[in-house]
Amino acid sequence: MNRLLALMAAAFGLAASAAERPNLVFIFSDDHALDAISAYGGPLKDLAPTPNLDRLASQGALFTRSYCTNSICGPSRAAILTGKHNHLNGFQDNDNSTFDGSQTTFPKLLRAAGYQTALIGKWHLVSQPQGFDHWEILPGQGSYYNPNFITPDGSVHRKGYCTDIVTDLAIDWLEKGRDKSKPFVLMCQHKAPHRNWSPAIRHLDLFDDVTFPEPDSLFDDYSGRDESLKKQEMTIARHMYWGHDMKFHGPSQLPEHFLDGLPNGEYQRMSPEQKKAWDKAYESENQAFIAAVKAGKIQGDDITRWKFQRYIKDYLRCIRAVDENVGRLLDHLDKSGLAENTVVIYSSDQGFYLGEHGWYDKRWMFEESLAMPFMVRWPGVIRPGTRSEAMIQNIDYAPTFLEMAGLPVPAAMQGRSLVPVFKASGTAPEDWRDAIYYAYTGEGTHRVAAHDGVRTERYKLMYFPGTKTWNLFDLEKDPGEMKSVHADPAYAQVLEEMKGRYAELRKQYLVSAATVPAHRKNEAWWKQRHEAKAAEARRGGHEVVFIGDSITQGWEGPGKAVWDRFYGKRKALNLGFSGDRTEHVLWRLMNGEMENVDPKLFVLMIGTNNTGHRQDDPADTALGVKLIIDLLRDRCPEAKILLLGVFPRDEKPDGRLRQINDAVNSRLSTYADGTQVRWLDLSGKFLTDHGILTREVMPDFLHPKGPGYQIWADAMEPVMVEMLK
Ligand code: CA
Repeated sequence: MNRLLALMAAAFGLAASAAERPNLVFIFSDDHALDAISAYGGPLKDLAPTPNLDRLASQGALFTRSYCTNSICGPSRAAILTGKHNHLNGFQDNDNSTFDGSQTTFPKLLRAAGYQTALIGKWHLVSQPQGFDHWEILPGQGSYYNPNFITPDGSVHRKGYCTDIVTDLAIDWLEKGRDKSKPFVLMCQHKAPHRNWSPAIRHLDLFDDVTFPEPDSLFDDYSGRDESLKKQEMTIARHMYWGHDMKFHGPSQLPEHFLDGLPNGEYQRMSPEQKKAWDKAYESENQAFIAAVKAGKIQGDDITRWKFQRYIKDYLRCIRAVDENVGRLLDHLDKSGLAENTVVIYSSDQGFYLGEHGWYDKRWMFEESLAMPFMVRWPGVIRPGTRSEAMIQNIDYAPTFLEMAGLPVPAAMQGRSLVPVFKASGTAPEDWRDAIYYAYTGEGTHRVAAHDGVRTERYKLMYFPGTKTWNLFDLEKDPGEMKSVHADPAYAQVLEEMKGRYAELRKQYLVSAATVPAHRKNEAWWKQRHEAKAAEARRGGHEVVFIGDSITQGWEGPGKAVWDRFYGKRKALNLGFSGDRTEHVLWRLMNGEMENVDPKLFVLMIGTNNTGHRQDDPADTALGVKLIIDLLRDRCPEAKILLLGVFPRDEKPDGRLRQINDAVNSRLSTYADGTQVRWLDLSGKFLTDHGILTREVMPDFLHPKGPGYQIWADAMEPVMVEMLK
């Protein structure tokens, strides 16, 4: 346990007894659209009701303006655990990210304060869970049928339907797995209703006699909005797989209408009895459809309409099992007497398109996937039947859970506790947020363009860096987001205001080119060096860790002899990468280079490439460095940091880059606290009395040569000795 956790735990012990602290059951599903919960009152509410979720809403509060930071699985989960936007927790996409489990999360803080913590079901953050007394997770996306689970002791194969099993395991832990003298947090996380939408056997015939209403925008042509909308690959019309999505067997018999090559993996997992029931439900309908298309009786848009019905029925069938299992868990809480002192939350990592804009899937900042369901029951605190319009986001969950448990919220968490909203019948405090920030950084899957933006009560501004285009939506007049008004003169002032809000929120949430972690894996040497350094870091035992760019990497080149003499016996690790800017360092540190690193001292010098490559605003560069310091403090609270001023560049003091670096340094110097973080500016050592940088010291006016490393080591040595004491 690190010092912060220990302090918090000790402070808590004085504050309250275990009996007063509520338990928390966090029920979380995957891709659950608001329109598929009847309590939200959407168009499906009478055809596909969710009585158990509705029960939660009627006994507690339902939030109608609940949003995610990034509408995909891993990032939403990482934001929930950390209370931070994804560039700060490092999990920005599902393609490249591994959750850095060494960072502070709410389960760790609650556990340190005496809570029992359990995680069951979908995790999808690549690294193993940390901060849980008990966990049993699905590997990656997991399976609906006869799923495998990962436990700390290895893999377990379980027979049955995933949504049922996850609930069984959750109830099992409540009954037999926990230390009943302590309050608990149980995260019960379903795979459903994620693609490929495989219903339970008992629900295969559900909705057979129903025709679900199509959304108005099922045949959206994507005009009037950024051109990237036309390039996505997530339409019901053109991007449904024959086997995986639409549940046909064998190769596509209608290849012009269905993608081929991805069979239904769930069918392959089924027992013979399950397969029999499955085929009985699907096969006659499938064969009739194939014959009708081949005979020309179903064609054109009607094929899309058929796909929509197949998709929406399977999706809603999966939700039926979620709803039943929520009911089962609520019943268990009632029967066991836990309900009274247990907060129950239902949410989902993001919403989903149920045919709106012709889509399935998520990713976009449009309403259907930006929205997360959020319902919470807290007996005695939340007035039953509360509906709240407070604008909330998944970064609020961690602060909320901490405050519920009577714990302080770390300043680095960006969300805000919802407890005051809960206590005020859903009304937000006066100074509550009136806008949220969203960022999708792009992935290979579905080819949705990167974009970020701001949503206020009435407007939504989106920015597409790929096309350098703004889109603006008036949600009051155009709730379906069918036409951007960014070029409409009537909205010129709104556009300017929204751009202002966008800039403010990016500043508030510390978003800039210097702070959003970025890798350089497309450069082979960089990728190899990162992998080698991460492996070296994992071997552990380093007393000093140097972090920086080419100037630090140069200890392995022109500075090698000096390095060996000064740092050879200190077991030092060199994490200097030529050409790196602050954002690259942030990425590296959250993706393996800090694993098993717990030195006495970090030596940090970074930022001159932010200056040289982009002439970044010194405030941005300094903030990038600040986030690196914060990260080091969070991961290794005992370690000290020697923060070096960025070395001077340009020959003369009035050189443009020299002046930018000077401005960076004047900001960096304020980050020192004199003990844990020490500031050392060696610029003077490299310059003449008149501030001239000579070719003898730095031939390219940027990198020291051999003697420069001697100057550096000599100047740093007394401070290092003191800090290593
Ligand atoms: Ca999801």
